[in-house]
Amino acid sequence: MPPQADPTPSGVLFETDTQTPDLGLDKDVSILKKARPRKYEYVWFNIMWFLFLHVASAYGIYLVFTSAKWQTNVFAFLVHLCCAIGIGAGSHRLWTHRSFKAKTPLRILLMIWQTMGFQDCIFEWARDHRTHHKYADTDADPHNAERGLFYSHMGWLCVKKSPEVLEGGRRIELKDLYDDPVVMHYLKMMPILCFVFPTIIPVYFWNETWLNAFLIPTILRYTCGINIVWSVNSFAHVFGYRPYDKSLNPRENIAVWMFCVEGFHNYHHTFPWDYRATEHPILNMLTPTIMFIDLMAKLGQAYDLKTVTPEIIKQRAQRTGDGTHHLWGWDDPEFTEKMKLRYGITNSERKTA
Ligand SMILES: [Zn+2]
Ligand SMILES: [Zn+2]
Repeated sequence: MPPQADPTPSGVLFETDTQTPDLGLDKDVSILKKARPRKYEYVWFNIMWFLFLHVASAYGIYLVFTSAKWQTNVFAFLVHLCCAIGIGAGSHRLWTHRSFKAKTPLRILLMIWQTMGFQDCIFEWARDHRTHHKYADTDADPHNAERGLFYSHMGWLCVKKSPEVLEGGRRIELKDLYDDPVVMHYLKMMPILCFVFPTIIPVYFWNETWLNAFLIPTILRYTCGINIVWSVNSFAHVFGYRPYDKSLNPRENIAVWMFCVEGFHNYHHTFPWDYRATEHPILNMLTPTIMFIDLMAKLGQAYDLKTVTPEIIKQRAQRTGDGTHHLWGWDDPEFTEKMKLRYGITNSERKTA
């Protein structure tokens, strides 16, 4: 008999979950982080599928440089960009975190791009990701990083979900997803949008070979897309600094951000309803997902964008951060006197001390 699943929240999901003035939980969540010994039940279909995707993608990379037309490579990148925005702005920031609201045309566009990137249907993506935030790094987290880098990257998709994860998912509020017809009418278009459409276009419009068209804009592009999202779950939960909350595993990882668009993961887990990737305006401006949401807001398609005030961020970084915050990390050995002088101008406490 598996142990009775009774997951305890280890993170905030919505503003309503917060218990302290600086928008955190009123307990030390570091003691909840764990991974009990567990017998895995393998999902062989997924294992063989991932194996095929990665072997075929390796050949796809070879074809990119040896025989593909340039139009095919550019097309693959553009499809990838649309999928990344569909998942980053759609499944993640809109449907999982409700960090902004979107009018129906924008929701339909994001649904189409998300479907093209196919990483489960929107409903399952959002439910699993809400579970990930609420029970981060516990046994109820679908990709619990306490089980190691490979498990949190893709291992979790190669085995059946544990009773704790299933129970965690059942306790997540999902009414808003059931109520959104755009979310619930999704999966039917997946094979066409994700696999057929990106293969046919290059053959029809610029006479690409079927093999190149299938392996580059379809298989390689798809495999890159899933690995990018997986890397946030794995690398950004292990490597990097924790300037906002050191009790959480998620970290700020600039390398993950450069490759994966998301990577300021300590900020994101500390304030998940903030539509921005980070508090730094320039880094947000360089993040395609955030640029896209900002553009849609200017066009009136996105509205009620949520952010966290600098004052709250400061309070939180000072109370729970690991001391590496660029403004308030006074105890970090890497924070030199020169840097303190430079940034001290904006640190009122330091100035008046
Ligand atoms: Zn995470
Ligand atoms: Zn998230």
